[in-house]
Amino acid sequence: MIIAVDGPVAAGKGTLARRIADIYGLKYLDTGALYRAVGLLLLKRGEDPANEQKAVQAAADVGEIDLTDPALRNEETGNAASKVAAIQPVRDALLEYQRNVAKAKPGAVLDGRDIGTVVCPDAPVKLFVTASAEVRAQRRFEELKAKGQNITYEAVLSDLKERDERDMGRKNAPLTQAADAHLLDTTKLDIEAALKAACQIIDASKDAS
Ligand code: C5P
Repeated sequence: MIIAVDGPVAAGKGTLARRIADIYGLKYLDTGALYRAVGLLLLKRGEDPANEQKAVQAAADVGEIDLTDPALRNEETGNAASKVAAIQPVRDALLEYQRNVAKAKPGAVLDGRDIGTVVCPDAPVKLFVTASAEVRAQRRFEELKAKGQNITYEAVLSDLKERDERDMGRKNAPLTQAADAHLLDTTKLDIEAALKAACQIIDASKDAS
């Protein structure tokens, strides 16, 4: 089984997708980490993440990045990721890997922005996880504060809105809810409630198939 989980930054989709993978015995792939790795490599090389030629080269060299590098998770890397993600040849370079993970047994939960629309358009279960910008910024702010990062809520909210606009407004594989995706708004839900709602959707889809 393939489960596609898409949504904007800090909607809770990563935690949800990981927990869903555990419950249903599936592999988990954080596709954002791939774009983050390309972005981080460009930052380390001192290159502009919006430079197409340099970004395509970095996508080819992405294996140089250690996927446990904590710098992958910082805001600067997230912003660089969203710039490289707008470049179609970078997306093309990462596509096959994502599809291979999805189709390997026993199946997988992939989270990202274009899983239900581009990477796995035939996934039998698609979730579109979202929440208000303010709630997402608050969650991300608390996460960063807990990691000791020196940042204000206002800065996080403004970064997040900028990233939403870039991810939704880009020409290539923009963030959008697939026509057959189930909307899961986590604005008023904690992780346990969101997980319960997600499992109900997945079980109902399994029963129907
Ligand atoms: O999910 P995360 O915030 O780690 O993703 C970082 C960036 O990578 C996103 O802002 C988005 O631009 C890009 N991305 C994408 N397609 C995906 C996953 C992430 O364009 N499937």
